[in-house]
Amino acid sequence: MPILNSINQMQDEMKTWRQELHRIPEIGLEEYKTSSYIKEKLKKWGIEYKDGYSNTGIVAWVRGTKGNSDKSIGLRADFDALPMTERNNFKHKSTNKGMMHACGHDGHTSMLLGAAKYLSENPDFDGTVHFIFQPGEEGFGGGEKMIQDGLFQDFKIDEVYALHNWPGLKLGQFGVSTGPMMAAVDEFDIVVKGKGGHAAMPDLAVDPVIIASQIINSLQTIISRIINPVDKALISVTKIHGGSAYNVIDDEVKLGGTVRTFKNETRDLIEKKINDTAKGIAIANGGEAEIQYYRKYPATINSKNESIFAGNVAKELVGEKNVITEVEPSMGGEDFSYLLNEKPGSYLYIGQNDNYHNAHLHTTQYDFNDNLLPLGVNYWIELVKKFFQK
Ligand SMILES: [Zn+2]
Ligand SMILES: [Zn+2]
Repeated sequence: MPILNSINQMQDEMKTWRQELHRIPEIGLEEYKTSSYIKEKLKKWGIEYKDGYSNTGIVAWVRGTKGNSDKSIGLRADFDALPMTERNNFKHKSTNKGMMHACGHDGHTSMLLGAAKYLSENPDFDGTVHFIFQPGEEGFGGGEKMIQDGLFQDFKIDEVYALHNWPGLKLGQFGVSTGPMMAAVDEFDIVVKGKGGHAAMPDLAVDPVIIASQIINSLQTIISRIINPVDKALISVTKIHGGSAYNVIDDEVKLGGTVRTFKNETRDLIEKKINDTAKGIAIANGGEAEIQYYRKYPATINSKNESIFAGNVAKELVGEKNVITEVEPSMGGEDFSYLLNEKPGSYLYIGQNDNYHNAHLHTTQYDFNDNLLPLGVNYWIELVKKFFQK
């Protein structure tokens, strides 16, 4: 199916929005300029909205003129950036020091703005479309906070959908699964306490470096020996801090890391085993271990029927062979999971890789592929139209 002509006409405009947003990356729940930018556009097009969700988040809506059905769909785009320094040198590179749109949320926002504009000009459907502009996806739980601030109480939304650009897929491809898409994200800190002393008299000390290194190795065997090998789970120890001199055994070593899982039972089991492993090894060596375990985003699990529906809409646009319907889940995390825990829906990857745009997400040379904008908007519009027909 060819891309709607009026969308092609909007392409330059969308590219401008995308690049303007790319210049002003903001993080956390403090994306004030980005939020104002979105609201300015909505106002200009006469689209109703309510703000203040998760501080800078916005919900806009367009009611179709074809009937009085109370059916409703929610489309979500995240709009926050990352705390990293951009290494690109093109004209639209970041102007905010130490912040960068390295996950393509500038593109997601532009595609949703394009869909809002098009559907407000062409409201030939029976029901209501909600456009959920969400801040703070990158670790700030903006999705959860929007729900706490009344997203689903203030608006009747039956199903929710989100698109994420995916450098691992070619431009013109989609990826979707009828189950897990992204892992649950947890973090932990371990303080290993020993007894400091002279490096040449280890018998008088309890060396926390030795204990910490045994713990790091043993944590990996939780994955390889305790978790069912068919299940997917990951532990990465990403922080280790200790010691200050060549000839001193320090009192303590601090470790930190992340855990990714898909099932609640696995999540519970790993938390318990990290505790048992760290404490047991410390005690066996005459030391102690204190563990803090933090549960962050839940796993992003698509619902089945809505994902089959979303995949079929993609197939009509780009052809059956370009839609990977049981795409491998990613061990990355995503706070659209909170929305999917409340409502049926689907989270899809939209391919963005061509010869030029092949940098991975969260890298300093990443840029959203503007050639993806028309396809993304067209997808949203087809999804909405078919949703109201189903
Ligand atoms: Zn990201
Ligand atoms: Zn992202």
